[in-house]
Amino acid sequence: MPSQVKIPRKVEVVTHCFADFFKGFEKVGAVQRIFGDKTEQVLRTLRVEFAGIRGYMGVSETDGHIIIGAHYLENGDIVDLYLDIIHELVHVKQFMEGKQLFDMDYSYVERPTEVEAYKVAVEEARRLGLDDERICQYLKTEWINDSELNRLAKALGVKYVPVREKKKERRRMAS
Ligand SMILES: [Zn+2]
Repeated sequence: MPSQVKIPRKVEVVTHCFADFFKGFEKVGAVQRIFGDKTEQVLRTLRVEFAGIRGYMGVSETDGHIIIGAHYLENGDIVDLYLDIIHELVHVKQFMEGKQLFDMDYSYVERPTEVEAYKVAVEEARRLGLDDERICQYLKTEWINDSELNRLAKALGVKYVPVREKKKERRRMAS
């Protein structure tokens, strides 16, 4: 590398207080069931990073903060966004418990941490009145094919309804 070039090796990842941006989640029953009586405390200390990349949502495997693509936040379906945040909060809890979020011994649709996170999101989707077709649409991502969607739906007790093209751009990062 040329001698005049300097590259910083340690930079600050800018994060914000989750509760400053995302309001009312501490009153959602599904969230209270995730964190129990620590709900308010966890949401007050949880950090969120807004990323200017074409990604969706994920949880940092370094410190467990939530990462959200600003483009997805602006353009994603609002119900999908809500369910994705619930899904990611389950990963936040899993991280706090020391669980391995990216266990590559499993495929995405069979990974226990993913199935658990989707279970909570689907339960909330049902409470909101989403039907099986809409839930399958929610579950469909560009990185799972139809047979994987079928397996995921089955694991979650959702009737598999083939998904045509998605109407809106959405989805999370690899988590
Ligand atoms: Zn996930």
